[in-house]
Formats: sequence, structure tokens, C-alpha cells
Amino acid sequence: MDGRIEFLQPILHYGGHFIAPLLIAAALWRSEWRRYGAVMVAANLIDLDHLLADPIFDPERCSVGFHLLHGWEAGLAYLAMMLVPRWWVRALGAGAFWHLTVDYGDCVMQTLP
Ligand SMILES: [Zn+2]
Repeated sequence: MDGRIEFLQPILHYGGHFIAPLLIAAALWRSEWRRYGAVMVAANLIDLDHLLADPIFDPERCSVGFHLLHGWEAGLAYLAMMLVPRWWVRALGAGAFWHLTVDYGDCVMQTLP
């Protein structure tokens, strides 16, 4: 991995998991951004599925497609949740799907020379 990317990756990762959801919530739900944003950040809890893996954390491993809540079936479920007429189910689905997007970005960066 290129030195610049190595420096940027954690910023993109944690910014993507904790700051971007608040910005997305602000863009989509305007005045309601606080509760939607809080639930979207809470959707990062899908990372608890890492506890089922051995080792729990491996920086060289791509989470997407490996962990139970990071598979394509889970991704489809998150998209379907966005259609449910309950605000918190929507926010949770949007947050979890966004989480997969950010994790996938990490996988792409890992493959860079
Ligand atoms: Zn993850």
C-alpha cells in the first residue's frame, strides 16, 4: 500500500463510520438528523459479528463477504429495511448498508499497490 493511502485509510475508515452517517442523516432527514444519525452510527454494531471470527480482527482481511452481517444477503436485508415504514428501521438499514460501503472501501484500498 502506498504511504499516502496508508495514512488516509484510518481517517476514511473512522470518518466513514462515525462522521459520514451524521452528514448523510443531515442531508436526508434535515431537522431530524440527530436521532437518525444516532441510529445510523449505532448500526456500526454489526461489527459485533467479528466476535464470531478467529482472529477477531485481521487488518489484511476483507470484512465484506466474510462475516455473517457483512455478506451480500445481509446487504440486501439492509436495503429492504429502508422500505419499512418505521423511522428507526430505515435509519438502521441505511446505517448498516453505509457501513458495508465503508468497509468495502477498505477492501479496495487494501488491493492497491
Ligand atoms: Zn464492519
